[in-house]
Amino acid sequence: MGGEQLAAPEEGWVSVASRLFTGPGRILAGITLLGAILAPQDIASATGPASPFNIQAQSGCEAEMLGNMGAREVFSGKAYDVLAEIARAYGRAIPHLYIFPRSWNMAYIAASAVVDGRGKIVVGQQAIERFDTLALKGFLGHEMAHLISDSAARGCNDYVLRDPQMEADADALAARTLGMRPVKAFLERVLVLTEGQNGDARHRLEVLPR
Ligand SMILES: [Zn+2]
Repeated sequence: MGGEQLAAPEEGWVSVASRLFTGPGRILAGITLLGAILAPQDIASATGPASPFNIQAQSGCEAEMLGNMGAREVFSGKAYDVLAEIARAYGRAIPHLYIFPRSWNMAYIAASAVVDGRGKIVVGQQAIERFDTLALKGFLGHEMAHLISDSAARGCNDYVLRDPQMEADADALAARTLGMRPVKAFLERVLVLTEGQNGDARHRLEVLPR
């Protein structure tokens, strides 16, 4: 894991990652609790020069990652409906939405919008169960903020370091677009689910613009 500050329950990214992304030479980079950029990579390329964007490599990486996660695309349901509403608020097409088992984390796939114009967001099944509609809106709204701010400088195969400023910016953009309530509800719910142990969520609540 690169640069991560995880304070997740057992079903968080750490366990998912260690189960699913520990094939030869693979690590899971850029995965953050509370909304993330999903970008596994080859360890060998971590220290190498950045390669030019390759759409075929990106597509292959996305398919492999989604397959490894056991993620399936959905076209209806609570998360889909909330995401559709969010996309409208952002004035964007609805991203492809995938649900994967066990986790309550979420991520978007770095540079995925370059492939299909819409982008891809993956949602842990338990996020749908444990976050009410308002908090889910804040959570998905945060991912959507990442997605529309993504310059595709990093792709699916690249190393993405967690950047607290990027997280705060995504929260702020979500709050500007959707209102403060869903973003606050999302971060407060994370604190409840982690029994107040998530310093990241606490910090992000503090730096939310009023
Ligand atoms: Zn994030």
